[in-house]
Amino acid sequence: AAKRAGGGRHLRYTAELDAQATVRARAGAELREALEAGQFHLVYQPIVQLPEGRIVSVEALVRWSHPERGFVSPAEFVPIAEETGLIVELGEWILRQACARAVAWHREYGAAAPQRISVNVSARQLAEPGFAGLVAAVLTETGLRPEQLVVELTETAVFDGGQALRTVEALHRRGVRIALDDFGTGHSSLTLLRTVPVDVLKVDKSFVDKVTMAGRHAVIATALIQVSDGLGLQAVAEGVETAEQAEELFRLGYRLAQGYHFGKPVAQPDFTRATRAVRVR
Ligand code: C2E
Ligand code: MG
Ligand code: MG
Ligand code: MG
Repeated sequence: AAKRAGGGRHLRYTAELDAQATVRARAGAELREALEAGQFHLVYQPIVQLPEGRIVSVEALVRWSHPERGFVSPAEFVPIAEETGLIVELGEWILRQACARAVAWHREYGAAAPQRISVNVSARQLAEPGFAGLVAAVLTETGLRPEQLVVELTETAVFDGGQALRTVEALHRRGVRIALDDFGTGHSSLTLLRTVPVDVLKVDKSFVDKVTMAGRHAVIATALIQVSDGLGLQAVAEGVETAEQAEELFRLGYRLAQGYHFGKPVAQPDFTRATRAVRVR
């Protein structure tokens, strides 16, 4: 009986996997069509210098406007794009679009344009042997200097094996800046700092949320700015939503921040003026 039950489970499991594979294939096809139909666009969120709130950089974030479903969150479709492999094509489009836009801003706004543009790169893209070459080609094509591009990676992406690390090293050698996204939430955040050439730590919103309250999160936020300063890296506080958080982060030594308090992601940020100054106590 045990064997039969086990067999039944196996059958059902296989059927479920088949169903999942079908759903995934359909989702992949739909994403490809969306890309071809021009349903994706990028928005840009300011990264500001504290305490003045001057925009020094922007992060490009992808958006999907579905004709029937309306706005679909990247938290929903990026994982599907990764699973289906479509992130490779979508990611190439995002990279090209973001770099071209940064160059256009420099032409239009001169010194007021953001100095850098950040692009999120997923594990799947980084594992492609041709990725460093693609970045080099897009930089040449668009005329963006390597120092002006920041590639945002998550811990899992960098740990995806030897190819990913070789790619990160190649990008870094070329002068492209490497940022670790959602820093502090992974399993081996600190170990990564020994093995991966990193320029920027993006301290996760979860630490920023509670930075004004005495407790573990505030202690960690304090430790992370010290690690960052000690290693000569730049730290960006992610997801800053209130003036109180911004003030406390500045007091702790953070000089770069990003979040709704300073500006939501929009199609065209206003580079001609500062966002919000932080009160210095
Ligand atoms: P992320 O790279 O950590 O991006 C930050 C996310 O936090 C963005 O969500 C941004 O809109 C949101 N955010 C910024 N400030 C605040 C704040 O003050 N409060 C709150 N509640 N949220 C804030 P979004 O645009 O929905 O993107 C979610 C994630 O999807 C990103 O996290 C990134 O992992 C992924 N993603 C977005 N665009 C791309 C892309 O072009 N390529 C890849 N591979 N992944 C992307
Ligand atoms: Mg990011
Ligand atoms: Mg982030
Ligand atoms: Mg985050």
